[in-house]
Amino acid sequence: AIEKSDHIIEQTNAYGAHNYHPLPVVIAEAEGVWVKDPEGNKYMDMLSAYSALNQGHRHPKIIQALKEQADKVTLTSRAFHNDQLGPWTKRVAELTGKDKVLPMNTGVEAVETAIKAARRWAYEVKGVEENKAEIIAAKGNFHGRTLNAVSLSNDPGATKHYGPFVPGIKKVAYGNVEVIREAITPNTAAMIIEPIQGEAGIIIPPEGYLQAVRDLCTENDILFIADEVQTGFARTGKMFACEWENVVPDIYVMGKAMGGGVFPVSAIAADKDIMDVFTPGSHGSTFGGNPLACAVSLAAIEVIEEENLVKKSLELGEYFTTALRAIDNDDLTAIRARGLFIGVEFNHPVRKYCEQLKEAGVLCKETHENTIRFAPPLVITKEELDWAIEKINYVLSKE
Ligand code: PLP
Repeated sequence: AIEKSDHIIEQTNAYGAHNYHPLPVVIAEAEGVWVKDPEGNKYMDMLSAYSALNQGHRHPKIIQALKEQADKVTLTSRAFHNDQLGPWTKRVAELTGKDKVLPMNTGVEAVETAIKAARRWAYEVKGVEENKAEIIAAKGNFHGRTLNAVSLSNDPGATKHYGPFVPGIKKVAYGNVEVIREAITPNTAAMIIEPIQGEAGIIIPPEGYLQAVRDLCTENDILFIADEVQTGFARTGKMFACEWENVVPDIYVMGKAMGGGVFPVSAIAADKDIMDVFTPGSHGSTFGGNPLACAVSLAAIEVIEEENLVKKSLELGEYFTTALRAIDNDDLTAIRARGLFIGVEFNHPVRKYCEQLKEAGVLCKETHENTIRFAPPLVITKEELDWAIEKINYVLSKE
């Protein structure tokens, strides 16, 4: 009863908005690192839904948690307590080392929450004059698609004809501490950065940058917001990418793999002095913190720990990167990697490589025009990785 791929793609194009440009492959089944189209062709997933699938597709433990919770209670809203929210917030607080956690659903909602927290904190704790709070963001960022998030962006593709934008935002070059120092005023509430810029093409800041940003924020009484939506939960070979410089942000922004690729779960974590700016009625979400999300997320976090995905990401990431560095292609200009979060940049658009890789059975996607992002599920085995490396080597070494 499954329709064939061409028909499904046609239907999606006919009735769906064209806000994406997917590869021409339809996924109908998935398990671990593997996906299958309706015709039964098998592919390896090397994108992991932009790192939302760090635990692999349909991890048995996470699916079991989903099913068990689905048989009990799925949604209460925050009008009442539910029995999963307490254990989950405690777990996430422990994981981040923060006092408190505020649950939302999607990554961009968590970004929104962090910015709202920072503004309130500026008025109520720091003493900034009402409506004067400023946020500093880094150029090249990706924080999501709401108006607030695109107001932080300088990407014409993400911002064109969406104005007027949210005011009170300054944008500075990523990786440069001096420009942050110049942008700081007494009204600065927070600096929001990705510890590694994912959508920008796996851009790793110069060594010492995160530490310097941390110091600058502390010295100037500014909140350091780390958007770990894509880099968090073991993707970069650390639980959070800030650990690469032993930096602790004031606010962690989390999403994607927090829900194990099964359910949308996002959150911010921060200490009391920040989180207590939220009072009843001042912020919330109908679905945020629902019992199904909490049960799934708890299992998703346990899988990362039980299966040593931090260590696996680090070790297999090094192995994969070494293999990629051996590729012989004069057009390949850079390989940027932290764990299994890898960008391979060429001096020309790479869409055709992604299409050829798909034909060879490896699914990945270009980010911006010239960079291929490799981010397989972290449950990948060395044998599976070797299989992919052979295909990648073949496609990327070709003229
Ligand atoms: N922040 C970062 C760093 C991201 O990479 C993304 C998504 O790619 C988001 C926020 C937005 O998350 P979502 O698409 O779940 O709203």
